[in-house]
Amino acid sequence: MIQVLEERSEGQQQQQYEIDGVQLRIWEEVANQYRQEIQLWQNSVDKLFQKCNGVPKKYLQKLKIMMMGKSNRQCSICCNQFQKDELIMQLPCKHIYHKSCVDSWLQSSTKCPNCRSDVLEALKDQEK
Ligand SMILES: [Zn+2]
Ligand SMILES: [Zn+2]
Repeated sequence: MIQVLEERSEGQQQQQYEIDGVQLRIWEEVANQYRQEIQLWQNSVDKLFQKCNGVPKKYLQKLKIMMMGKSNRQCSICCNQFQKDELIMQLPCKHIYHKSCVDSWLQSSTKCPNCRSDVLEALKDQEK
């Protein structure tokens, strides 16, 4: 018979648990939390697929995000110049855009607005 020493309040108390059964219960909780998160993530990916023909979030996460330095280049999605410290995203073709601009662009298209190269295909190639 396994006894629970005390109710778990915070993760930091984990070390106090030495009884295997209790530890198992903690791992079960952790696994459940992950399951919930995966479910949420799955839902949003499904929504993305249903709603549009853009780049799935899973691939968007692979794109390089950078902080803009000094530059007088401009973002060809919103046609504004990049400001210092703005978040920018670089596509596999090396073209850069504001992160927020390219995020919404890639929800409805998989192509770079500048050179029309296929972002999704390039990201899939990187995976191989
Ligand atoms: Zn922009
Ligand atoms: Zn491009």
